Amino acid sequence: MNETFLDVTMIRHVGAAYMGNGGGRDMFTLEIYAEKAKCLGVSRAEIIDTKNVVVENWVRLKCQYGCGVYGECLTCPPYSPTPDYTKKMIGEYSKGLLMQIENISPTNRPRLSTELRKIVADLEREIFLDGYHKAFGLAAGPCRLCKTCDTQGHCKYPYMARPSMEACGIDVYQTARNCGFKLEVVKAEDSPQAYVGLILIK
Ligand code: SF4
Repeated sequence: MNETFLDVTMIRHVGAAYMGNGGGRDMFTLEIYAEKAKCLGVSRAEIIDTKNVVVENWVRLKCQYGCGVYGECLTCPPYSPTPDYTKKMIGEYSKGLLMQIENISPTNRPRLSTELRKIVADLEREIFLDGYHKAFGLAAGPCRLCKTCDTQGHCKYPYMARPSMEACGIDVYQTARNCGFKLEVVKAEDSPQAYVGLILIK
């Protein structure tokens, strides 16, 4: 994954040149962020309409009754935004960047979960600094940036810690499928998984 960082630098320069070519920010298409995400290591990245993002109440039941770390992380329920809040919040956006890392083997899950969280945080910051002041990222799974999350205290890495899509009540399967991504139920513990993240942009 490391060799891709050279490509990001190149794309950053292309983007800067494009922005500085008399067109201003309106000419700076959001697609550049999808290309950057791919350079950072995601398998797939698309700019999507937020009308494709599905938020439903049942999603958090899967966290509460089925996840072994329910309540143990500040980015997860019951600390993360409720489905009602998320629905209203998504309604304030029109575009997002949906990203997927595919074919994750069991041994690579912790590393790539954290990798996706960092990609989301870094791109959210860059998109924000480009003038999209509403940019906000959502990652996948519980935050593993600290060995143990102190839910009674403040987050130790607020720059990088973002809730997962599912922790906010987003139906990740349906959202991914609505956007043309392939995402199937994982049927065995040792089967490859996929992680999906989203940055809401404007
Ligand atoms: S960065 Fe650390 S303190 Fe913050 S949510 Fe993640 S694990 Fe918890």
